[in-house]
Amino acid sequence: MSHLRFSALEDIRKRKAVEVQLPSVKTSEYFGSNVFDLKKMQEYLSEEAYESVKQAVERGSKIERKVAEQIASGIKSWALDRGATHYTHWFQPLHGTTAEKHDAFFQPTKDGGVIENFGGDKLVQQEPDASSFPSGGIRNTFEARGYTAWDPSSPAFVIGTTLCIPTIFVSYTGEALDYKTPLLRSLNLLDKAAVEICQLFDRNVTKVNGTLGWEQEYFLVDEALYHARPDLMLTKRTLMGHASAKDQQLADNYFGSIPERVMSFMKEIEIEAYKLGIPIKTRHNEVAPNQFECAPVYEEINLAVDHNQLLMDIMDKIARHHNFRVLFHEKPYKGVNGSGKHCNWSLATNTGVNLLSPGKTPKSNLQFLTFLINTIKAVHDWQDLLRASIMSSGNSHRLGAHEAPPAIISVFIGEQLTKMLDEIASRVSTKKMTPDEKTSLKLDVGKIPEILLDNTDRNRTSPFAFTGNRFEFRAIGSSANTSNPMTTLNTVVSNQLMEFTRDVKALRKNGVKKDEAIFQVLKDYIVKSKKIRFEGDGYSESWIKEAEKRGLSNIKDVPDSFSAFMTKKSKDMFSACHVLSEVEINARFDIRLERFTKKVQIESRVLGDLAINHIIPTCINFQTKLIENVNGLKEVSSKEDFKRLSSLQMDTILDISERINAVKKLVNEMKEERKKANKMEKILDQANAYSKIIKPYLLEIRSHIDRLELIVDDRMWPMPKYRELLFNR
Ligand code: ADP
Ligand code: MG
Repeated sequence: MSHLRFSALEDIRKRKAVEVQLPSVKTSEYFGSNVFDLKKMQEYLSEEAYESVKQAVERGSKIERKVAEQIASGIKSWALDRGATHYTHWFQPLHGTTAEKHDAFFQPTKDGGVIENFGGDKLVQQEPDASSFPSGGIRNTFEARGYTAWDPSSPAFVIGTTLCIPTIFVSYTGEALDYKTPLLRSLNLLDKAAVEICQLFDRNVTKVNGTLGWEQEYFLVDEALYHARPDLMLTKRTLMGHASAKDQQLADNYFGSIPERVMSFMKEIEIEAYKLGIPIKTRHNEVAPNQFECAPVYEEINLAVDHNQLLMDIMDKIARHHNFRVLFHEKPYKGVNGSGKHCNWSLATNTGVNLLSPGKTPKSNLQFLTFLINTIKAVHDWQDLLRASIMSSGNSHRLGAHEAPPAIISVFIGEQLTKMLDEIASRVSTKKMTPDEKTSLKLDVGKIPEILLDNTDRNRTSPFAFTGNRFEFRAIGSSANTSNPMTTLNTVVSNQLMEFTRDVKALRKNGVKKDEAIFQVLKDYIVKSKKIRFEGDGYSESWIKEAEKRGLSNIKDVPDSFSAFMTKKSKDMFSACHVLSEVEINARFDIRLERFTKKVQIESRVLGDLAINHIIPTCINFQTKLIENVNGLKEVSSKEDFKRLSSLQMDTILDISERINAVKKLVNEMKEERKKANKMEKILDQANAYSKIIKPYLLEIRSHIDRLELIVDDRMWPMPKYRELLFNR
């Protein structure tokens, strides 16, 4: 008899929603109260220091050492006023979560007392013992020197009693060891490349920011059940479990009423998020039972990424107050909707224009089309890189399964814009256009906002969809740090924008007028990138065939997909753009492969243990009962009756035996394969072995266990079942 599963179910029956202390003031009155934002800077900093931070944020200018002293002192006073006792550099190393090392403010003085101390050097540079963060060999381990340096574009904040200072993390020799450094480089590049194009349309544009609004999906599971599932605890997904008779077939969960305990959890998160200036705007149930989503109002990309990382941290902590565990894994349950993190991406100018939103005049619409078409072209040319940027061990289970777009990258823009682009492609020619032709083309371009207004079609099956005033990159997994896909997207689009500028300049040198040159280049791009556009059902079988015919790639294997970063074309592009050097790309490739290998390795070990220690003994116990029953029948029935009466039991006994043997054999084989893989010297060979040889064992072993779950007496089954995990809350 399994105690943990049943005592967990008992615990849950007694649970009540945890009372959350609501703030006594309106949200607007405490929003950002724990953030050292511009308003607080004005209060705590000298004018010189304030201006210097503002310039650093707006123009990326350097902060002088002397000013850093003043800023540090201002931040310190503010943080102490908020009750902080410690400070930490908060950064995003390549293992995917955030890192922090806390130091106390206090410092002993010569006369034996203590003072609160925090100088400019503590703000600008810190040297954590970084030997255990992944660096892909860039930083010699014995040196253990990584530097963290303040990123003024993301404001400092206080959590509990700790002042957190968002920082970049670089090696002694200047290579990026984190997610943030390349992201900032890519944003800088995007700014330059986009401003140059905006200048063709409007001389007032001097700054372009990338914007990001992420939609975070997640599952909640009661902590008692979580603790009764070692696979969830150790791998964040279920490695076994037969489908529940009812899960999401009735589609009765999406936007349904939010359960009370969950509501309390959401409220507490929102309060904490608002204090930290994270503008959470929406909350709702998602498609699967016990699956939810929240989304903020979009922000500048760097800040949005920090806020997402921060929120994931907070959610993880707060879930515990409510006896929940939050699952960010992309596919915690087989056969049920997975979790994504759709990234809504656009470009905003200092003049208040969204460059992916159609304007009111033909001129602003031509600018809109320029950014739209260049983005499509970038996705077309670099589809493999974009896929590589979103792939992970977890996301590989989600892509192409049930709800998520497949590993084929395509772009959806809707019927109206499709017509518009095809029009341009057919009407613009390299011959000089007549004035009439130009006027009519411009008139049509001028009509875009009207057609988009009633453009209600929304394709939820596309991995990269235009949704009226932004692109929604939907292939990103829920557990991801969005820096990597955002860095990649920013870089390929910037690279494309620079190409556009060159192409237009070349035509103009040959005497072609500005507008016509722009139209001609855009037409060329529309034609060249046509095959990436797809308006149909991205989940369908027919699309997979069609994509293959079009020559679009469809790489489902994780290590194979990563290789896109390693081509000469990609390395040349990244280093020409100064976003990632070859050394950094190589290091990142190794780190990602290693992470993948370790994840599959852990899953494989956990499943092996559970199969041998939990499942097989349970099945043998049940089988023994059946055998006893058969023996009893033999005693009480006649020879003729016995055969008939015991046939069901006999079949079951045999079935269990066959499956137990199969499981045992597969677990042993898998172990041998792991041993072989672990001896391999090259990281790529290891990852390939784990992906192509070991990973398939997981599914095969599970298929037997899931059948056994249906056969064995429910009261004996040791682990919470899908129906229990998905419907208790
Ligand atoms: P839906 O579920 O319909 O996709 P949501 O409200 O869940 O919509 O999320 C939409 C996200 O897109 C929000 O975070 C929103 O702020 C963001 N968004 C809206 N406009 C932009 C923009 N110009 N740039 C980036 N993100 C945007
Ligand atoms: Mg949404």
